[in-house]
Amino acid sequence: MKMHASLENYRELLSKVDAKFDEISSRHPHAFACRKGCHSCCAPGLTISSVERASIHEYLSERPKLVEYLRELEKSNPHRNTRCSFLGEQGDCGVYEVRPLVCRSHGAPITFKNSRAERARDVCPLNFTDQSLDSLDSADCLDIDTVNTLLSLVNRQWETQAGVETQRFDLKLRAVLEASAIESGSEN
Ligand code: SF4
Ligand code: SF4
Repeated sequence: MKMHASLENYRELLSKVDAKFDEISSRHPHAFACRKGCHSCCAPGLTISSVERASIHEYLSERPKLVEYLRELEKSNPHRNTRCSFLGEQGDCGVYEVRPLVCRSHGAPITFKNSRAERARDVCPLNFTDQSLDSLDSADCLDIDTVNTLLSLVNRQWETQAGVETQRFDLKLRAVLEASAIESGSEN
């Protein structure tokens, strides 16, 4: 099956965000608490766009054993609904390779335009605890507004090519697996 062009563009965006995260963490190796098992950022109730859903769907459709594991995980509910249902008992992400953008950007210092149209910065409270974000070079912050704009463009491209309406989906197994225009879009 030929991969949808917008899906390739989306995965390229993921790679760029990963590369930026790596670049920042290599400059500040001691400022990050992010590691496997640290998961207070894996909150329940996250939602994803159509192209993000399609990416996870495609990955899972080639991995029936993983789907089985995720079904069991959801049933056993080790975190008692306090975390994303893809989070394993040991704090490992069941869809790590295809986790959405929000999961990849979380942890990095971000810059964004706030409600007063001023540039602001933020970061997970567990990271950069010994350093003021204001002291960081702008290259050490992920411009989350730009990332979101690029995601929105690539998602629009996906929706147009797949012929689907704009919609948000729960970051949950059932929502990701449900039959939809995903398959027809990926044939284009
Ligand atoms: S973003 Fe925060 S909560 Fe999430 S893994 Fe990194 S340090 Fe832990
Ligand atoms: S998809 Fe993975 S990284 Fe993202 S919130 Fe769920 S468990 Fe955490």
